[in-house]
Amino acid sequence: MEKIYYKSTRGSQDTIEASKAILKGIAEDGGLFVPCKIPKIDEELSVLSEMGYKELAYFVMSKFFTDFTEEELKECIEKAYDDKFDTKEIAPMKKVGDTFFLELYHGPTLAFKDMALSILPYLLTTSAKKQKLDKEIVILTATSGDTGKAALEGFTNIEGIKIIVFFPQKGVSEIQKMQMITHQGINTYVVGIEGNFDDAQSGVKEIFTDKEFLRVLENNNYMFSSANSINIGRLVPQIVYYFYAYLNLYKNGEIKEGEKINFSVPTGNFGNILAAYYAKQMGLPIDKLICASNDNKVLYEFMDRGIYDKNREFYTTISPSMDILISSNLERLLYLLSNEDSAKVIEFMEDLKNKGSYEIDENMKKALKDFYGNFASEEETKQAVNEVFKEFDYLIDTHTAVAYSANKKYKEASKDTNKTVIVSTASPYKFTYAVMGSIDQKYSKSDDFELVKEMSKLIDTEEPKAIKDIDKREIIHKTVSRKDEMKLQVEKILNI
Ligand SMILES: *Cc1c(COP(=O)(O)O)cnc(C)c1O
Repeated sequence: MEKIYYKSTRGSQDTIEASKAILKGIAEDGGLFVPCKIPKIDEELSVLSEMGYKELAYFVMSKFFTDFTEEELKECIEKAYDDKFDTKEIAPMKKVGDTFFLELYHGPTLAFKDMALSILPYLLTTSAKKQKLDKEIVILTATSGDTGKAALEGFTNIEGIKIIVFFPQKGVSEIQKMQMITHQGINTYVVGIEGNFDDAQSGVKEIFTDKEFLRVLENNNYMFSSANSINIGRLVPQIVYYFYAYLNLYKNGEIKEGEKINFSVPTGNFGNILAAYYAKQMGLPIDKLICASNDNKVLYEFMDRGIYDKNREFYTTISPSMDILISSNLERLLYLLSNEDSAKVIEFMEDLKNKGSYEIDENMKKALKDFYGNFASEEETKQAVNEVFKEFDYLIDTHTAVAYSANKKYKEASKDTNKTVIVSTASPYKFTYAVMGSIDQKYSKSDDFELVKEMSKLIDTEEPKAIKDIDKREIIHKTVSRKDEMKLQVEKILNI
Protein backbone atom coordinates (compact mmCIF):
# COMPACT_ATOMS: atom_id res chain seq x y z
CA MET A 1 0.00 0.00 0.00
CA GLU A 2 1.19 3.49 -0.77
CA LYS A 3 2.65 5.34 2.22
CA ILE A 4 0.77 8.46 3.19
CA TYR A 5 2.55 11.32 4.94
CA TYR A 6 1.16 14.41 6.60
CA LYS A 7 1.99 18.08 6.32
CA SER A 8 0.71 21.35 7.76
CA THR A 9 -1.90 23.40 5.88
CA ARG A 10 0.42 26.37 6.48
CA GLY A 11 3.27 24.69 4.71
CA SER A 12 6.23 25.44 6.92
CA GLN A 13 6.83 21.92 8.18
CA ASP A 14 8.40 18.73 7.01
CA THR A 15 6.13 15.85 6.14
CA ILE A 16 5.64 13.39 8.98
CA GLU A 17 4.09 9.99 9.57
CA ALA A 18 0.52 9.60 10.76
CA SER A 19 1.52 8.53 14.27
CA LYS A 20 3.52 11.72 14.71
CA ALA A 21 0.69 13.91 13.39
CA ILE A 22 -1.76 12.22 15.76
CA LEU A 23 0.56 12.83 18.69
CA LYS A 24 1.11 16.48 17.88
CA GLY A 25 -2.54 17.26 17.20
CA ILE A 26 -1.76 20.63 15.64
CA ALA A 27 1.31 21.73 13.68
CA GLU A 28 3.82 24.08 15.26
CA ASP A 29 3.08 26.77 12.67
CA GLY A 30 -0.55 26.78 13.84
CA GLY A 31 -1.77 24.86 10.79
CA LEU A 32 -3.66 21.57 10.69
CA PHE A 33 -2.18 18.31 9.49
CA VAL A 34 -3.47 17.03 6.17
CA PRO A 35 -2.52 13.96 4.15
CA CYS A 36 -0.11 14.83 1.32
CA LYS A 37 -2.43 12.81 -0.88
CA ILE A 38 -5.94 11.50 -0.35
CA PRO A 39 -5.93 7.74 -0.99
CA LYS A 40 -8.41 6.26 -3.49
CA ILE A 41 -10.80 3.37 -3.10
CA ASP A 42 -9.17 0.29 -4.65
CA GLU A 43 -11.92 -2.24 -4.10
CA GLU A 44 -15.34 -2.92 -5.64
CA LEU A 45 -18.22 -1.40 -3.71
CA SER A 46 -19.97 -4.76 -3.85
CA VAL A 47 -17.05 -6.30 -1.95
CA LEU A 48 -16.99 -3.49 0.59
CA SER A 49 -20.73 -3.81 1.14
CA GLU A 50 -20.18 -7.26 2.63
CA MET A 51 -18.02 -5.82 5.41
CA GLY A 52 -19.16 -5.09 8.94
CA TYR A 53 -18.33 -1.77 10.59
CA LYS A 54 -14.99 -2.86 12.01
CA GLU A 55 -13.77 -4.44 8.81
CA LEU A 56 -14.72 -1.34 6.88
CA ALA A 57 -13.03 0.82 9.52
CA TYR A 58 -9.84 -1.12 8.87
CA PHE A 59 -10.22 -0.74 5.12
CA VAL A 60 -10.54 3.05 5.35
CA MET A 61 -8.14 3.81 8.18
CA SER A 62 -5.34 1.58 6.91
CA LYS A 63 -5.22 3.75 3.79
CA PHE A 64 -4.47 6.84 5.90
CA PHE A 65 -2.49 5.49 8.84
CA THR A 66 0.07 3.66 6.76
CA ASP A 67 2.75 3.56 9.46
CA PHE A 68 0.53 1.47 11.73
CA THR A 69 0.93 -2.28 11.36
CA GLU A 70 -2.16 -4.31 10.56
CA GLU A 71 -2.07 -5.77 14.04
CA GLU A 72 -1.80 -2.37 15.73
CA LEU A 73 -4.64 -0.82 13.81
CA LYS A 74 -6.93 -3.82 14.17
CA GLU A 75 -6.36 -3.83 17.91
CA CYS A 76 -7.33 -0.15 18.13
CA ILE A 77 -10.48 -0.84 16.14
CA GLU A 78 -11.43 -3.88 18.23
CA LYS A 79 -11.09 -1.94 21.46
CA ALA A 80 -13.03 1.05 20.14
CA TYR A 81 -16.10 -0.44 18.50
CA ASP A 82 -17.17 -2.97 21.09
CA ASP A 83 -20.17 -3.16 23.40
CA LYS A 84 -19.69 0.45 24.46
CA PHE A 85 -22.05 0.90 21.54
CA ASP A 86 -25.58 -0.28 22.14
CA THR A 87 -25.86 -1.88 18.70
CA LYS A 88 -23.55 -4.18 16.75
CA GLU A 89 -24.20 -2.14 13.65
CA ILE A 90 -22.43 0.79 15.37
CA ALA A 91 -24.00 3.27 12.92
CA PRO A 92 -27.52 2.07 12.08
CA MET A 93 -29.55 3.62 9.27
CA LYS A 94 -33.26 4.34 9.67
CA LYS A 95 -35.56 4.88 6.74
CA VAL A 96 -38.28 7.33 7.63
CA GLY A 97 -40.66 8.14 4.79
CA ASP A 98 -38.30 8.61 1.88
CA THR A 99 -35.55 10.06 4.03
CA PHE A 100 -32.66 8.18 5.57
CA PHE A 101 -31.24 8.97 8.98
CA LEU A 102 -27.75 7.75 9.83
CA GLU A 103 -27.82 7.37 13.60
CA LEU A 104 -24.38 8.17 14.93
CA TYR A 105 -25.39 8.40 18.57
CA HIS A 106 -25.29 4.82 19.79
CA GLY A 107 -22.01 5.23 21.67
CA PRO A 108 -21.46 5.79 25.38
CA THR A 109 -22.17 9.55 25.45
CA LEU A 110 -25.10 9.69 23.01
CA ALA A 111 -23.51 11.90 20.35
CA PHE A 112 -21.56 11.28 17.15
CA LYS A 113 -18.34 12.38 18.83
CA ASP A 114 -18.11 8.82 20.19
CA MET A 115 -17.56 7.52 16.66
CA ALA A 116 -14.05 8.96 16.66
CA LEU A 117 -13.31 9.54 20.32
CA SER A 118 -13.74 5.89 21.18
CA ILE A 119 -10.75 5.08 18.97
CA LEU A 120 -8.57 8.20 19.35
CA PRO A 121 -7.16 7.17 22.77
CA TYR A 122 -5.91 3.90 21.29
CA LEU A 123 -4.51 5.57 18.19
CA LEU A 124 -2.73 7.99 20.48
CA THR A 125 -1.22 5.44 22.86
CA THR A 126 -0.15 3.28 19.92
CA SER A 127 1.42 6.35 18.28
CA ALA A 128 3.27 7.13 21.52
CA LYS A 129 4.72 3.63 21.55
CA LYS A 130 5.67 3.80 17.90
CA GLN A 131 7.42 7.13 18.39
CA LYS A 132 9.08 5.87 21.60
CA LEU A 133 7.64 8.80 23.49
CA ASP A 134 8.76 8.98 27.10
CA LYS A 135 6.59 11.90 28.14
CA GLU A 136 3.17 12.02 29.69
CA ILE A 137 0.54 13.24 27.21
CA VAL A 138 -1.82 16.02 28.24
CA ILE A 139 -4.94 16.25 26.13
CA LEU A 140 -6.29 19.78 26.00
CA THR A 141 -9.78 20.03 24.64
CA ALA A 142 -12.33 22.75 24.06
CA THR A 143 -15.89 21.55 23.74
CA SER A 144 -19.19 22.92 22.55
CA GLY A 145 -20.79 20.22 24.68
CA ASP A 146 -20.38 16.78 23.18
CA THR A 147 -16.64 16.41 22.54
CA GLY A 148 -15.92 17.00 26.23
CA LYS A 149 -17.84 14.07 27.59
CA ALA A 150 -16.91 11.77 24.71
CA ALA A 151 -13.21 12.57 25.22
CA LEU A 152 -13.47 12.11 28.99
CA GLU A 153 -15.13 8.77 28.42
CA GLY A 154 -12.47 7.69 25.93
CA PHE A 155 -9.41 8.78 27.89
CA THR A 156 -10.43 7.89 31.44
CA ASN A 157 -7.81 5.75 33.19
CA ILE A 158 -5.67 5.41 30.08
CA GLU A 159 -2.13 5.17 31.30
CA GLY A 160 0.29 7.96 30.42
CA ILE A 161 -2.45 10.44 29.58
CA LYS A 162 -4.16 13.29 31.43
CA ILE A 163 -7.12 15.10 29.94
CA ILE A 164 -8.30 18.66 30.56
CA VAL A 165 -11.64 19.77 29.11
CA PHE A 166 -12.73 23.40 28.81
CA PHE A 167 -16.42 24.05 28.20
CA PRO A 168 -18.49 27.25 27.93
CA GLN A 169 -20.15 27.44 31.34
CA LYS A 170 -23.40 28.84 29.93
CA GLY A 171 -23.26 27.41 26.42
CA VAL A 172 -24.19 23.75 26.81
CA SER A 173 -27.39 21.89 27.65
CA GLU A 174 -28.04 20.99 31.30
CA ILE A 175 -27.59 17.33 30.51
CA GLN A 176 -24.32 17.92 28.65
CA LYS A 177 -23.03 19.94 31.58
CA MET A 178 -23.95 17.32 34.16
CA GLN A 179 -22.37 14.60 32.01
CA MET A 180 -19.07 16.45 32.22
CA ILE A 181 -18.94 17.86 35.75
CA THR A 182 -19.95 14.54 37.33
CA HIS A 183 -17.38 12.56 35.37
CA GLN A 184 -15.17 10.27 37.43
CA GLY A 185 -11.61 9.31 36.59
CA ILE A 186 -8.31 10.12 38.27
CA ASN A 187 -6.72 11.53 35.11
CA THR A 188 -9.65 13.78 34.13
CA TYR A 189 -10.13 17.52 34.70
CA VAL A 190 -13.05 19.71 33.64
CA VAL A 191 -13.09 23.51 33.72
CA GLY A 192 -16.01 25.82 32.93
CA ILE A 193 -15.15 28.98 30.99
CA GLU A 194 -16.86 32.34 31.30
CA GLY A 195 -17.21 32.73 27.55
CA ASN A 196 -18.42 30.80 24.52
CA PHE A 197 -16.97 27.87 22.58
CA ASP A 198 -14.88 30.12 20.32
CA ASP A 199 -13.22 31.60 23.41
CA ALA A 200 -12.45 28.13 24.74
CA GLN A 201 -11.12 26.93 21.37
CA SER A 202 -8.97 30.04 20.80
CA GLY A 203 -7.60 29.70 24.33
CA VAL A 204 -6.58 26.11 23.72
CA LYS A 205 -5.02 26.97 20.36
CA GLU A 206 -3.03 29.77 21.98
CA ILE A 207 -1.67 27.43 24.64
CA PHE A 208 -0.74 24.92 21.93
CA THR A 209 1.38 27.46 20.09
CA ASP A 210 2.90 29.23 23.11
CA LYS A 211 6.54 28.29 22.56
CA GLU A 212 7.71 29.30 26.00
CA PHE A 213 4.96 27.39 27.74
CA LEU A 214 5.72 24.35 25.61
CA ARG A 215 9.31 24.47 26.84
CA VAL A 216 8.20 24.58 30.48
CA LEU A 217 5.96 21.66 29.74
CA GLU A 218 8.74 19.70 28.14
CA ASN A 219 11.02 20.33 31.10
CA ASN A 220 8.35 18.77 33.26
CA ASN A 221 8.16 15.76 30.98
CA TYR A 222 4.76 16.54 29.50
CA MET A 223 3.55 17.07 25.95
CA PHE A 224 0.23 18.38 24.66
CA SER A 225 -2.09 16.75 22.21
CA SER A 226 -5.62 17.45 21.10
CA ALA A 227 -8.85 15.50 21.10
CA ASN A 228 -10.59 18.14 18.98
CA SER A 229 -11.35 17.50 15.36
CA ILE A 230 -8.21 19.42 14.46
CA ASN A 231 -6.49 16.10 15.27
CA ILE A 232 -6.23 13.98 12.13
CA GLY A 233 -6.71 10.95 14.36
CA ARG A 234 -10.24 12.10 14.89
CA LEU A 235 -11.03 13.10 11.35
CA VAL A 236 -10.09 9.84 9.62
CA PRO A 237 -12.30 7.56 11.78
CA GLN A 238 -15.22 9.81 10.79
CA ILE A 239 -14.77 8.94 7.11
CA VAL A 240 -15.73 5.35 7.86
CA TYR A 241 -19.41 5.92 8.52
CA TYR A 242 -19.93 7.72 5.22
CA PHE A 243 -18.78 4.56 3.50
CA TYR A 244 -20.93 2.51 5.83
CA ALA A 245 -23.99 4.62 5.03
CA TYR A 246 -23.49 4.46 1.28
CA LEU A 247 -22.91 0.72 1.33
CA ASN A 248 -25.98 0.21 3.51
CA LEU A 249 -28.19 1.88 0.88
CA TYR A 250 -26.51 -0.11 -1.87
CA LYS A 251 -26.86 -3.41 -0.04
CA ASN A 252 -30.53 -2.77 0.68
CA GLY A 253 -31.27 -2.05 -2.96
CA GLU A 254 -32.07 1.61 -2.32
CA ILE A 255 -29.43 2.71 -4.83
CA LYS A 256 -27.59 1.18 -7.78
CA GLU A 257 -23.84 0.71 -7.67
CA GLY A 258 -22.22 4.06 -8.40
CA GLU A 259 -25.42 6.05 -7.95
CA LYS A 260 -24.66 9.34 -6.26
CA ILE A 261 -26.24 10.34 -2.98
CA ASN A 262 -26.31 13.48 -0.85
CA PHE A 263 -25.53 13.92 2.82
CA SER A 264 -26.96 16.66 4.98
CA VAL A 265 -24.69 17.36 7.93
CA PRO A 266 -25.42 19.56 10.96
CA THR A 267 -22.21 21.54 11.06
CA GLY A 268 -20.22 23.48 13.65
CA ASN A 269 -16.47 23.03 13.60
CA PHE A 270 -16.66 21.51 10.08
CA GLY A 271 -15.09 18.20 11.12
CA ASN A 272 -17.97 15.87 10.35
CA ILE A 273 -18.78 17.27 6.91
CA LEU A 274 -15.09 17.46 6.03
CA ALA A 275 -14.86 13.72 6.62
CA ALA A 276 -17.67 13.32 4.07
CA TYR A 277 -15.70 15.46 1.62
CA TYR A 278 -12.65 13.24 2.13
CA ALA A 279 -14.84 10.20 1.44
CA LYS A 280 -15.92 11.86 -1.80
CA GLN A 281 -12.29 12.59 -2.73
CA MET A 282 -11.51 8.94 -2.12
CA GLY A 283 -14.09 8.07 -4.76
CA LEU A 284 -17.27 7.36 -2.82
CA PRO A 285 -20.20 8.37 -5.08
CA ILE A 286 -21.38 11.46 -3.25
CA ASP A 287 -23.00 14.37 -5.04
CA LYS A 288 -23.96 17.27 -2.76
CA LEU A 289 -22.86 17.88 0.78
CA ILE A 290 -25.46 19.98 2.50
CA CYS A 291 -23.83 22.09 5.16
CA ALA A 292 -26.51 22.90 7.72
CA SER A 293 -26.14 25.72 10.25
CA ASN A 294 -28.30 27.15 13.00
CA ASP A 295 -28.69 30.90 13.62
CA ASN A 296 -24.88 31.13 13.82
CA LYS A 297 -24.91 30.91 10.05
CA VAL A 298 -21.40 31.99 9.21
CA LEU A 299 -20.87 28.83 7.12
CA TYR A 300 -24.10 29.30 5.20
CA GLU A 301 -22.87 32.66 4.00
CA PHE A 302 -19.47 31.25 3.20
CA MET A 303 -21.01 28.52 1.03
CA ASP A 304 -23.32 31.02 -0.57
CA ARG A 305 -20.94 33.89 -1.31
CA GLY A 306 -17.41 32.75 -0.55
CA ILE A 307 -17.09 35.30 2.24
CA TYR A 308 -16.30 34.17 5.75
CA ASP A 309 -17.25 36.82 8.28
CA LYS A 310 -17.30 36.15 12.00
CA ASN A 311 -18.11 39.76 12.87
CA ARG A 312 -21.65 39.13 13.95
CA GLU A 313 -23.71 38.46 17.02
CA PHE A 314 -23.15 35.10 18.67
CA TYR A 315 -26.38 33.24 19.44
CA THR A 316 -26.91 30.60 22.09
CA THR A 317 -29.32 28.21 20.41
CA ILE A 318 -31.19 24.96 21.06
CA SER A 319 -28.54 23.18 18.98
CA PRO A 320 -25.62 24.29 21.19
CA SER A 321 -23.03 21.89 19.75
CA MET A 322 -23.18 24.00 16.58
CA ASP A 323 -22.87 27.39 18.28
CA ILE A 324 -19.56 28.23 16.68
CA LEU A 325 -18.32 31.20 14.67
CA ILE A 326 -14.79 29.98 13.99
CA SER A 327 -14.92 26.61 12.25
CA SER A 328 -11.43 25.20 12.64
CA ASN A 329 -11.60 22.48 10.06
CA LEU A 330 -12.55 24.88 7.31
CA GLU A 331 -8.82 25.54 7.08
CA ARG A 332 -8.39 22.03 5.67
CA LEU A 333 -11.05 22.72 3.06
CA LEU A 334 -9.45 26.04 2.10
CA TYR A 335 -6.22 24.16 1.59
CA LEU A 336 -7.87 21.71 -0.80
CA LEU A 337 -9.95 24.34 -2.61
CA SER A 338 -6.86 26.45 -3.26
CA ASN A 339 -4.95 23.50 -4.73
CA GLU A 340 -2.83 23.22 -1.62
CA ASP A 341 -1.70 26.84 -1.65
CA SER A 342 -0.38 27.37 1.89
CA ALA A 343 0.44 31.02 1.25
CA LYS A 344 -3.22 31.66 0.54
CA VAL A 345 -4.32 29.70 3.59
CA ILE A 346 -2.01 31.74 5.80
CA GLU A 347 -3.40 34.95 4.32
CA PHE A 348 -7.01 33.91 5.02
CA MET A 349 -6.16 32.90 8.57
CA GLU A 350 -4.31 36.18 9.17
CA ASP A 351 -7.30 38.11 7.84
CA LEU A 352 -9.60 36.09 10.05
CA LYS A 353 -7.47 36.88 13.05
CA ASN A 354 -7.00 40.57 12.32
CA LYS A 355 -10.21 41.59 10.55
CA GLY A 356 -12.52 38.74 11.44
CA SER A 357 -13.23 38.01 7.78
CA TYR A 358 -11.80 36.93 4.44
CA GLU A 359 -13.01 36.29 0.90
CA ILE A 360 -11.90 33.46 -1.36
CA ASP A 361 -11.18 33.98 -5.06
CA GLU A 362 -13.33 32.96 -8.04
CA ASN A 363 -11.58 29.65 -8.66
CA MET A 364 -12.04 28.62 -5.09
CA LYS A 365 -15.67 29.66 -5.20
CA LYS A 366 -16.15 27.40 -8.20
CA ALA A 367 -14.55 24.55 -6.29
CA LEU A 368 -17.21 24.99 -3.60
CA LYS A 369 -19.82 23.49 -5.93
CA ASP A 370 -19.76 20.19 -4.03
CA PHE A 371 -21.37 21.99 -1.11
CA TYR A 372 -24.69 23.65 -0.54
CA GLY A 373 -25.22 25.75 2.58
CA ASN A 374 -28.41 26.64 4.36
CA PHE A 375 -29.61 27.14 7.90
CA ALA A 376 -32.55 26.62 10.21
CA SER A 377 -33.79 29.30 12.59
CA GLU A 378 -34.82 28.29 16.10
CA GLU A 379 -38.45 28.14 15.02
CA GLU A 380 -37.64 26.05 11.94
CA THR A 381 -35.57 23.68 14.07
CA LYS A 382 -38.49 23.07 16.42
CA GLN A 383 -40.85 22.69 13.48
CA ALA A 384 -38.60 20.01 12.00
CA VAL A 385 -38.54 18.01 15.25
CA ASN A 386 -42.31 18.32 15.44
CA GLU A 387 -42.96 17.48 11.80
CA VAL A 388 -40.82 14.34 11.76
CA PHE A 389 -42.39 13.11 14.98
CA LYS A 390 -45.99 13.82 13.96
CA GLU A 391 -45.59 12.45 10.47
CA PHE A 392 -43.37 9.44 11.06
CA ASP A 393 -43.40 8.80 14.80
CA TYR A 394 -39.63 9.20 14.83
CA LEU A 395 -37.92 11.49 17.32
CA ILE A 396 -34.84 13.46 16.27
CA ASP A 397 -32.70 15.83 18.28
CA THR A 398 -32.35 19.53 17.53
CA HIS A 399 -29.02 19.22 15.65
CA THR A 400 -30.39 16.55 13.38
CA ALA A 401 -33.46 18.75 12.92
CA VAL A 402 -31.25 21.54 11.58
CA ALA A 403 -29.90 19.15 8.95
CA TYR A 404 -33.39 17.96 8.09
CA SER A 405 -34.64 21.50 7.67
CA ALA A 406 -31.68 22.61 5.54
CA ASN A 407 -32.13 19.57 3.31
CA LYS A 408 -35.78 20.40 2.82
CA LYS A 409 -34.85 23.89 1.70
CA TYR A 410 -32.30 22.43 -0.68
CA LYS A 411 -34.77 20.00 -2.22
CA GLU A 412 -37.31 22.74 -2.75
CA ALA A 413 -34.77 25.07 -4.30
CA SER A 414 -32.99 22.53 -6.50
CA LYS A 415 -35.50 19.81 -7.43
CA ASP A 416 -32.56 17.44 -6.92
CA THR A 417 -33.86 13.86 -6.74
CA ASN A 418 -30.79 12.16 -5.27
CA LYS A 419 -31.34 9.96 -2.27
CA THR A 420 -30.31 11.86 0.84
CA VAL A 421 -28.92 10.75 4.14
CA ILE A 422 -29.48 13.05 7.12
CA VAL A 423 -26.60 12.66 9.52
CA SER A 424 -28.10 12.26 13.01
CA THR A 425 -25.51 13.57 15.41
CA ALA A 426 -27.15 13.26 18.80
CA SER A 427 -29.77 11.30 20.66
CA PRO A 428 -32.90 13.31 21.50
CA TYR A 429 -32.27 12.27 25.11
CA LYS A 430 -29.40 14.70 25.28
CA PHE A 431 -31.57 17.71 24.56
CA THR A 432 -34.84 16.80 26.21
CA TYR A 433 -36.01 20.32 27.04
CA ALA A 434 -35.74 21.65 23.50
CA VAL A 435 -36.96 18.45 21.87
CA MET A 436 -39.99 17.90 24.09
CA GLY A 437 -40.86 21.59 23.92
CA SER A 438 -40.96 21.25 20.14
CA ILE A 439 -43.47 18.42 20.41
CA ASP A 440 -45.82 20.11 22.84
CA GLN A 441 -45.82 23.41 24.73
CA LYS A 442 -46.98 21.65 27.86
CA TYR A 443 -43.52 20.19 28.42
CA SER A 444 -41.95 23.63 28.76
CA LYS A 445 -42.89 23.71 32.44
CA SER A 446 -40.57 20.81 33.28
CA ASP A 447 -36.76 20.75 33.35
CA ASP A 448 -34.34 18.69 31.27
CA PHE A 449 -34.07 15.94 33.86
CA GLU A 450 -37.79 15.48 34.44
CA LEU A 451 -38.25 15.36 30.71
CA VAL A 452 -35.92 12.38 30.32
CA LYS A 453 -38.66 10.30 31.92
CA GLU A 454 -41.39 11.92 29.83
CA MET A 455 -39.44 11.24 26.66
CA SER A 456 -38.96 7.65 27.65
CA LYS A 457 -42.75 7.31 27.96
CA LEU A 458 -43.44 9.20 24.76
CA ILE A 459 -41.25 7.05 22.53
CA ASP A 460 -41.55 3.92 24.63
CA THR A 461 -37.84 3.26 25.02
CA GLU A 462 -35.75 2.94 28.14
CA GLU A 463 -33.79 5.91 29.45
CA PRO A 464 -30.22 5.47 28.19
CA LYS A 465 -27.76 4.36 30.86
CA ALA A 466 -25.55 7.33 30.07
CA ILE A 467 -27.98 9.84 31.55
CA LYS A 468 -30.10 7.82 33.94
CA ASP A 469 -30.36 9.75 37.24
CA ILE A 470 -27.71 12.12 36.02
CA ASP A 471 -29.12 14.97 38.13
CA LYS A 472 -28.47 12.92 41.27
CA ARG A 473 -24.80 12.25 40.62
CA GLU A 474 -22.09 13.93 42.67
CA ILE A 475 -20.57 17.06 41.14
CA ILE A 476 -16.83 16.53 41.00
CA HIS A 477 -15.50 19.32 38.81
CA LYS A 478 -16.37 22.76 40.19
CA THR A 479 -13.71 25.04 38.71
CA VAL A 480 -14.92 28.00 36.65
CA SER A 481 -12.31 30.17 34.98
CA ARG A 482 -12.05 33.44 33.11
CA LYS A 483 -11.17 32.90 29.48
CA ASP A 484 -7.84 34.68 29.90
CA GLU A 485 -6.85 32.36 32.74
CA MET A 486 -6.93 29.05 30.93
CA LYS A 487 -3.14 28.74 30.92
CA LEU A 488 -3.12 29.34 34.64
CA GLN A 489 -5.61 26.51 35.11
CA VAL A 490 -3.40 24.17 33.13
CA GLU A 491 -0.40 25.13 35.27
CA LYS A 492 -2.37 24.47 38.43
CA ILE A 493 -3.65 21.12 37.29
CA LEU A 494 -0.23 19.94 36.15
CA ASN A 495 1.49 21.50 39.11
CA ILE A 496 4.13 23.25 36.99
C1 LIG B 1 -20.10 18.42 17.38
C2 LIG B 1 -21.50 18.34 16.95
C3 LIG B 1 -21.92 18.86 15.74
C4 LIG B 1 -21.00 19.61 14.81
O1 LIG B 1 -20.02 18.79 14.27
P1 LIG B 1 -18.70 19.42 13.61
O2 LIG B 1 -17.84 18.28 13.26
O3 LIG B 1 -18.10 20.28 14.71
O4 LIG B 1 -19.13 20.24 12.47
C5 LIG B 1 -23.24 18.67 15.37
N1 LIG B 1 -24.11 18.02 16.17
C6 LIG B 1 -23.73 17.52 17.36
C7 LIG B 1 -24.74 16.84 18.21
C8 LIG B 1 -22.42 17.63 17.79
O5 LIG B 1 -22.05 17.12 18.97
